[in-house]
Amino acid sequence: MTVETTFASLALAEPILRAIADAGYTTPTPIQAQAIPQVIAGGDLLAAAQTGTGKTAGFTLPILHHLSTRAAQAPKPGRPRCLILVPTRELAAQVEESVKTYGKYLPLTSMVMFGGVNINPQFKALKSRVDILVATPGRLLDHLGQKTVDLSGVEILVLDEADRMLDMGFIRDIKKVLAVLPKQRQNLLFSATFSDEIRALANGLLHNPKSVEVARRNTTVEVVEQSMHRVPQAHKRDLLAHLIKHNDWQQVLVFTRTKHGANKLAEKLIKDGITAAAIHGNKSQGARTKALASFKDGSVRVLVATDIAARGIDIDQLPQVVNFELPNVPEDYVHRIGRTGRAGATGAALSLVDDEEMSYLRDIEKLIKRSIVRVEIEPGFVPPARADLVSDERPPRPPQGRGQPRAGQAGAPRKGQAGSPPAQGGAARSGEPARPSQAPNRRGGKPAAAQPAPRAAAPHPAQPRKPRPQAALFSAKPGTRGH
Ligand code: AMP
Repeated sequence: MTVETTFASLALAEPILRAIADAGYTTPTPIQAQAIPQVIAGGDLLAAAQTGTGKTAGFTLPILHHLSTRAAQAPKPGRPRCLILVPTRELAAQVEESVKTYGKYLPLTSMVMFGGVNINPQFKALKSRVDILVATPGRLLDHLGQKTVDLSGVEILVLDEADRMLDMGFIRDIKKVLAVLPKQRQNLLFSATFSDEIRALANGLLHNPKSVEVARRNTTVEVVEQSMHRVPQAHKRDLLAHLIKHNDWQQVLVFTRTKHGANKLAEKLIKDGITAAAIHGNKSQGARTKALASFKDGSVRVLVATDIAARGIDIDQLPQVVNFELPNVPEDYVHRIGRTGRAGATGAALSLVDDEEMSYLRDIEKLIKRSIVRVEIEPGFVPPARADLVSDERPPRPPQGRGQPRAGQAGAPRKGQAGSPPAQGGAARSGEPARPSQAPNRRGGKPAAAQPAPRAAAPHPAQPRKPRPQAALFSAKPGTRGH
């Protein structure tokens, strides 16, 4: 596909193009440029793409196009026309959010369905029209068992992150779902990796599929200078303030795991004389827009964000990213550091890692296939006095959910979705999209290891004391994104 590909040239319906423009997207990503025409053409698709490539819009946009341009056959409440199966509740929430975002000018309805929450609101939502159902397999089977959902009208099936679904032991659940779908349908399978198991699933599911493949997003990790400090959680705030001053960082995006943590950290930095703002889902749109604008024009040096908030604001090309806490989902680390070092620019990502987070670090290093340089904290840093060490940071939450032992193993919940936020149903055009109130912990069941990591003698990759380029913020129209 050539670089000239535009959304308009992909022949998407006008209301979808309008929603894309609202989202601030100007050009289709490679997976979108390749997948959208294939899906619009109507055949099955096998797509190799991981999260971060824009794959969600890659299937959501043409699905919305199909559903809005073809009349529904025998529409009935609780009888979706499109089923999107995903491995985790938060991916379910994100995908449905995308459906709402891109479908906001269409009279289509969507619903997200996952386990670990009261099923009654889902029963209620299924009593209305649902065009697009985004579901995790286990809870979907519960509904099928209770006959509260009718899959006989499914025209398009998507298996998103199919490799993770298999990793999580969902293959039998998936097969049970497939058994009740109508034979005539379009199938789209997205997977980051292609194991023999995935190929077997694809062979059984797809008919003469077209295949598309895009480079792994992980390549950004190669241009970003990555390092870490081992530091107790309670020292992190002081250390960060020290690093910002000592290295004269002028523009830093800092990631925290929780909204509360983001607020506390911004307050602490301000107390230390560093201009800072927090941005997360609890802030009003006005506050978020203001914080972003100040960060962009340099009047605020530090923007503290949660993963979900940062995903919504599309900050790019930053000189310095700091992981105040490591994300418990390794792919989120790649998303975070992808904010820097893009488009040929070099960037730096520093992680502050407490003993509790060492297992997260190992998972990240496994994913990015490289080790993150352990750097000694500079001698100039004086940790806070003992009395100041009462940290009100919540420690990293115990691992659960994604990457848990497979079904059937000890301690493995069959459906792997404990503690989900309530299901959201409703019109694609209805306001704030579904999302968990806190990013749920998706990672594996390993206990957080506490053994010390080897410390490298490498010098601290401090930023040179020179003015930094301003962040490129390309979400042109705040208010159109979900977080
Ligand atoms: P995904 O791989 O679907 O998780 O998408 C990763 C991120 O890319 C999301 O934050 C999307 O909002 C964003 N995104 C998707 N398509 C585009 C595009 N064409 N231009 C800019 N950002 C995009």
